[in-house]
Amino acid sequence: MEKIKMPTPLVEMDGDEMTRIIWKMIKDILLTPYIELNTEYYDLGLTHRNETDDQVTVDSANATKKYGVAVKCATITPNAQRMTEYDLKEMWKSPNGTIRAILDGTVFRAPIIVKGITPLIPTWKKPITIARHAYGDVYKNTELKVAKGSRAELVVTDENGNETRELIHNFKSSDGIIQGLHNLDESIGSFARSCFNFALDVKQDLWFATKDTISKKYDHRFKDIFAEIYEKEYKEKFENADIEYFYTLIDDAVARVVRSEGGYIWACKNYDGDVMSDMVATAFGSLGMMTSVLVSPDGVYEYEAAHGTVTRHYYKHLKGEETSTNSVATIFAWSGALKKRGQLDGAEDLVAFAEKLEKATVQTIEEGVMTGDLAVLSRLPDKKKVNTEQFLLEIKERLEKLL
Ligand code: NAP
Ligand code: MG
Repeated sequence: MEKIKMPTPLVEMDGDEMTRIIWKMIKDILLTPYIELNTEYYDLGLTHRNETDDQVTVDSANATKKYGVAVKCATITPNAQRMTEYDLKEMWKSPNGTIRAILDGTVFRAPIIVKGITPLIPTWKKPITIARHAYGDVYKNTELKVAKGSRAELVVTDENGNETRELIHNFKSSDGIIQGLHNLDESIGSFARSCFNFALDVKQDLWFATKDTISKKYDHRFKDIFAEIYEKEYKEKFENADIEYFYTLIDDAVARVVRSEGGYIWACKNYDGDVMSDMVATAFGSLGMMTSVLVSPDGVYEYEAAHGTVTRHYYKHLKGEETSTNSVATIFAWSGALKKRGQLDGAEDLVAFAEKLEKATVQTIEEGVMTGDLAVLSRLPDKKKVNTEQFLLEIKERLEKLL
């Protein structure tokens, strides 16, 4: 068979630890035998980030802007312990944070569903994709402790020096606390556009919820910005695609999500997304089955697994012990990026290959061959737990039958 060609490169961001090992295995076993991989390679492994004073992360994000598609391996976000382990010059920031800031993107997380692994919520039949607004609110807050007898006010000074004041509270009878939050119309608008674009891309309904009945200015602004952008830029496209934009209150949304069968995108304010994405991920099963894609408002896509570098497995691997690390989310990051590249370039063979790779991966697990994390969850009668490499070889066997 002749190898599939890629007219335009995609950006490849290599990473750390066990996922770096898996990264190479996926390329060697499942990709390069079939595709003439055309990638612009950036090594975001912590050693190389340190050598380049983290410039490589910035360069990789700018390359992603240029080419429109990237695939990223999980990377270490350094903490004090990593400073000594890797002899770092500085405690470099999270690469994901840096890339997200440069692309002004929104992260969409979706589980991969396979037969045999039932979500903890039995009505869920299709994936629920969570989009979390990654700017502002309580994550960029200003807080104070307030002593009894104090009076707290909100004060805004405009560019001409005019002040607007609102009483927060008169702390007459007790000590207390206050918190100042903000968000930006611009950021909320980018978030909305990323969500509307992604919904059109995957042809799923979009849900959004806030607490606008209680927060009549702050949360209501989110509701209004979404509604304005929808009416002006997306209503017709949604109707043509036969999908829906649905707004409700956050508590009503939670109740509906639990009763639903899934199959939609749930856009969440920053805090709601933080809390709900962990709930949804846990209910769907293993972290190894959770995909993540960063989408910018102008339609740039960066695919990755939602999990980290699986450090515990890596240390076992270094000691020469056998590992059974789930590579599914990383495989789907590659297939997602290849599919997107193919769609943008009109390369149908690339799209078809990516779809077959996903099919072979799911089929492997549904036929009872899986890594340890899934073996404990799967209800299939006959299960075979395999090691990290065997799992990829089992997928390869099935992929070749589909090609
Ligand atoms: P983690 O790498 O996601 O792993 C946590 C645990 O979850 C693992 O020890 C393992 O459980 C299980 N797990 C996760 N992915 C798995 C997979 N593919 N297959 C099988 N089991 C899997 O999270 P962490 O240990 O908190 O973080 C490790 C490093 O990753 C940190 O340096 C962190 O900064 C980084 N991180 C990076 C990203 C990213 O780049 N997007 C995201 C999160 C964390 P058992 O040990 O019980 O088998
Ligand atoms: Mg969280």
